Amino acid sequence: MEQLPFAFDNSYARLPPHFFQRVDPTPVAEPRLIEVNRALAEELGIDADRLTAAMLGGNEVPFGAEPLAMAYAGHQFGYFVPQLGDGRAILLGEVIDRNGLRRDIQLKGSGLTAFSRRGDGRAALGPVLREYLVGEAMAAFGIPTTRALAAVTTGQPVLREMPLPGAVLTRVASSHLRVGSFQFFAAREDKEGLKALADYAIARHYPEAAQADKPYRAFLQMVVERQAALIAQWQRVGFIHGVMNTDNCSIAGETIDFGPCAFMDGFDPNKVFSSIDEGGRYAYNNQPRMAQWNLFRLAECLLPLLADTEEDSVAEAELALERYKTAFEEAYLAALRGKLGLLTAQPDDMELAQDFLKLMATEQADFTITFRRLGDETLRHLFADKAVIDDWLTRWSLRLAQEPDRDEERRAVMRRANPAVIPRNHRIEAVIRAAVDNEDFAPFREMLAALKDPSDDHPEFALYQQPPRSEELVLRTFCGT
Ligand code: AMP
Ligand code: MG
Repeated sequence: MEQLPFAFDNSYARLPPHFFQRVDPTPVAEPRLIEVNRALAEELGIDADRLTAAMLGGNEVPFGAEPLAMAYAGHQFGYFVPQLGDGRAILLGEVIDRNGLRRDIQLKGSGLTAFSRRGDGRAALGPVLREYLVGEAMAAFGIPTTRALAAVTTGQPVLREMPLPGAVLTRVASSHLRVGSFQFFAAREDKEGLKALADYAIARHYPEAAQADKPYRAFLQMVVERQAALIAQWQRVGFIHGVMNTDNCSIAGETIDFGPCAFMDGFDPNKVFSSIDEGGRYAYNNQPRMAQWNLFRLAECLLPLLADTEEDSVAEAELALERYKTAFEEAYLAALRGKLGLLTAQPDDMELAQDFLKLMATEQADFTITFRRLGDETLRHLFADKAVIDDWLTRWSLRLAQEPDRDEERRAVMRRANPAVIPRNHRIEAVIRAAVDNEDFAPFREMLAALKDPSDDHPEFALYQQPPRSEELVLRTFCGT
């Protein structure tokens, strides 16, 4: 009898057959546990002790799973690909978590599917560790994100530029519905499929939309608002996703598909890490605009559902899309106020924050450390030009003088808004080096521990707070596919 760690309750598998391919994971040579995320398992109502390497490596299909690869399309760097799909990921099924929320359990790196195209269906250990660390960090920052339930090594090499150890990540998401999922049906002019998908997304993520006057417009507007809020949070922590293609844009508004993503060290608004992003399409400062671009693509897909005539549909879409700008600006300003410790709103707050960012950009000041030191005497040391920083600090203290006398609360807000620890790229690289070169996962576990509670200073994890020395700087990140 199969063990039963998951109480699966699958809904996506009930959708029409052309929404996915039923396919089992391909067994691997020697699955071995790297890590099981016990806290997340607990939240999901999963008995972590019953999770085996065989299950998490895809060698055994757990009871109740209905493995499938989802169909989707997507714009990649602006170019439309009518069929992408899960080429190396397999949805095992869904569970209802302790808060009553439906969550997907997916294996990533689990073998070939009908959507693998020229890929091998596998994942290398490095990118699996990066996705694990960055996803858990995002969660610790309070930013909507997919999570990592477990990671295993496969005992099988994957061939990239060189042979690398293979791994499988068990990913947890509110769902894996993407803008690209809608594009798949829209590109095929499959209105029935499109409607079934929209109704599914509404029931699963935006049930309030079903009650609205115009449910599909309400749905679009809610996705718009969720994405706007998400990108504002990315900007808050200096996160650069790197591949904001429409297939990596979640309908649930979670950060998803961590490829060549990275957090900025020195602040540069035009920062790009990804080796494949030559034009800087997904540079830090472009992220808000690119998310909006993706939402326009979603709106185009939904046109047939929005109204009876094209003209009316376009008008409905525009109404929903209009929300993006204000929703983003509100969320971004709120995030910046938090970073500056402002509990109330004043009309010049955005200017005050932007001027600080400009100073940081001029000196390429470390994004994380600089914000963290606000209110600390040592902040001045980070700037070569003392006159300009002093001038700004005077403006900031004048602004603080208008604030209510709630310093305790202010400090707590600032600690949360300005994490002390981020998953710095050079540290991730060191973790990956140790794992790949020496099968040493101690640095990985230590970094996970350092990221658990990023709002507080932990002297024992000081290493993780330090910016890279020049020889440690990571200039480029690779997709790792
Ligand atoms: P990503 O860049 O990870 O968002 O992936 C884009 C598309 O390429 C998705 O359809 C993936 O499933 C597919 N893909 C990426 N890597 C592989 C791989 N190693 N084998 C098969 N398909 C892949
Ligand atoms: Mg993707």
